[in-house]
Amino acid sequence: MLGTASQVPTRTRGQNGYLLRWDAEGLLFDPGEGAQRQMLLAGVSASDVTRICLTHFHGDHCLGLPGVVQRLSLDHVPHPVDAHFPGSGREYFARLRHASAFYETATLREWPIEAEGEVARGGFGTLSVRRLVHAIDAYGYRLVEPDGRRMLPDRLRERGVTGPAVGRLQRDGTIEVDGRTVRLEEVSEPRRGQRFAFVMDTRLCDGVYALAEGADLLVVEATFLDGDADLAWRYGHLTAGQAARVAAGSGVRTLVLTHFSQRYPEPAAFAEEARRHFDGELVVAADLMRIPVPPKR
Ligand SMILES: [Zn+2]
Repeated sequence: MLGTASQVPTRTRGQNGYLLRWDAEGLLFDPGEGAQRQMLLAGVSASDVTRICLTHFHGDHCLGLPGVVQRLSLDHVPHPVDAHFPGSGREYFARLRHASAFYETATLREWPIEAEGEVARGGFGTLSVRRLVHAIDAYGYRLVEPDGRRMLPDRLRERGVTGPAVGRLQRDGTIEVDGRTVRLEEVSEPRRGQRFAFVMDTRLCDGVYALAEGADLLVVEATFLDGDADLAWRYGHLTAGQAARVAAGSGVRTLVLTHFSQRYPEPAAFAEEARRHFDGELVVAADLMRIPVPPKR
C-alpha cells in the first residue's frame, strides 16, 4: 500500500498508490502524488515495475505518474513497461508522460483501453477490465492466474512415478511406468489459479461485482461510511458497508479497504462497518502496509 487517502494526502496517508507483486510481475496501480517516494519507503525499485494500470484520470490516481515514468529512464530499467489507462484520457496520459524534460531511455508501451474485456495475457495469467461508474471514464482491473493441478504424492507413489518422471508427466499429460500408462488426472487434482481485483472510484454497479467475483484478494475503495451513502452516490463512490457486502456476496477471501475520505479521522469505523457484513480476512489499509495474496487452496 503506497498511499491510502482519497483526493488529498493527509498527515498520515499519502495519495493513492498500490504495487502488486505477482510472480515476476510488478503491477503499479493508480500512482498518486508522492508515489515515487512511497516506493522508496516500501522497498520497491523502479525496475520492480513491469506494468502500470490506471483506473481513471482524477489527480489522486495519476499525478504520481510523471515521477515514476522519469524514474524508469533515470534508473535505465531494461524491460519494457506496459501502461493501461482509459482511452478517453489519452491526452492526460500524454501530458503526464511528458510533464517535463528528461532523457528517455526506458520503453513505456501505451495500451489505451477502449472497451471492457481482456487487456493483457501472459505467464502471469489474464488481465481484464470492467467499466466502473464515476464522474469520468473509469475501469477496474481483474487479474486471473490460469488454473493448474496439484500433484498428489500418495497417488504418485502408488503408481511408481518418482523423480524426473513427475516433471515429464506434468509436461506430457501421460507417462509409461513398467508398461502401464499413468495419466496426469489420476495423480493430481485441479488447483484454481489465484484471482486479484482492483476496484477504485465508482458507485455500486455491475462492474464491481464482476471484478470481485471469487477474488482471493480484493482491493477496493471505501471512501465513505454508510451514514454518508447519499454523498457516496452523488460523487460516485462506495461506502465501507457496500464494499463489504459485495465482498461477502462474491466469495472474496481477503478484503482490503482503502481510499478513505479525510472527513473520517478514525479508521476503526471502516473496520466496524465492514465487519457487520464480511467475515473473511479484513484489512483497513494504512500506508506502507504489506498484504499477502492468500495462498492457493
Ligand atoms: Zn479517487
